[in-house]
Amino acid sequence: MKYIGAHVSASGGVENAPVNAHEIGAKAFALFTKNQRQWKSAPLAKSSIVLFKENCEKFGFKPLHILPHDSYLINLGHPEQEGLDKSREAFLDEMSRCEELGLDRLNFHPGGSLAKISDEECLKRIAESINITLDQTRGVIAVIENTAGQGSNLGFKFEQIGFIISLVEDKSRVGVCIDTCHSFAAGYDLTSDEAFTATFRNFEEAIGFQYLKGMHINDSKKGLGSRVDRHDSLGKGTLGLEVFRRLMHDPRFDDIPLILETPDETIWKEEIQLLYSL
Ligand SMILES: [Zn+2]
Ligand SMILES: [Zn+2]
Repeated sequence: MKYIGAHVSASGGVENAPVNAHEIGAKAFALFTKNQRQWKSAPLAKSSIVLFKENCEKFGFKPLHILPHDSYLINLGHPEQEGLDKSREAFLDEMSRCEELGLDRLNFHPGGSLAKISDEECLKRIAESINITLDQTRGVIAVIENTAGQGSNLGFKFEQIGFIISLVEDKSRVGVCIDTCHSFAAGYDLTSDEAFTATFRNFEEAIGFQYLKGMHINDSKKGLGSRVDRHDSLGKGTLGLEVFRRLMHDPRFDDIPLILETPDETIWKEEIQLLYSL
């Protein structure tokens, strides 16, 4: 069974996210547990935590179908000690918030070298950051998202993510989120049956489906291998609806959160219905 949803607003409190998800007919959702553009936010209020859990229960959302996303400021592979320390501190706070909310996974972008260290050094730093954070938290899986490879951002090749995972000590608490737009922008074609099969064969070999803990379902404004991250609404971009039909018919994508991050939130409800109709 497919669990489709969107990255919904948590404004006014995290407890509003499951309500917003329910309103668009979602069976899964993503959220920020704090302001994604600030380094620090107030701790979650006890009442918010209780209400969040109650609302999830009420609308039938289980932790394995909820994919929180961390702040965009965090760079776990930061080349400089100060930036690295700040990122690690913020990431620990993000993981702890998920733990408090009873959630079992946190989605994050791996990080970038800022062209100041080698890619390999940066990937090692990211793995070290994950190890440090896992040691200080319990029960939450660190879910690495593949990127479009803009600028010096790493994780655009499946092999880079496989390399990070190989250095993580507790393999039971590391996972992957594949974003369809990022994959295409990074050069992984999905637009024919053959290309789709080849891309996910490559994924299986470099990472492995046992690590797949979520997907971001986005069309792309830019072309194959453009290395530019611009999401589009389903069927309106360079990927096209057939890509999403293939996903919907493939049991390897069952039982994980499939999250829309498409630009027009007023049509999320229709996009969810569209995906189920495929
Ligand atoms: Zn994404
Ligand atoms: Zn993106």
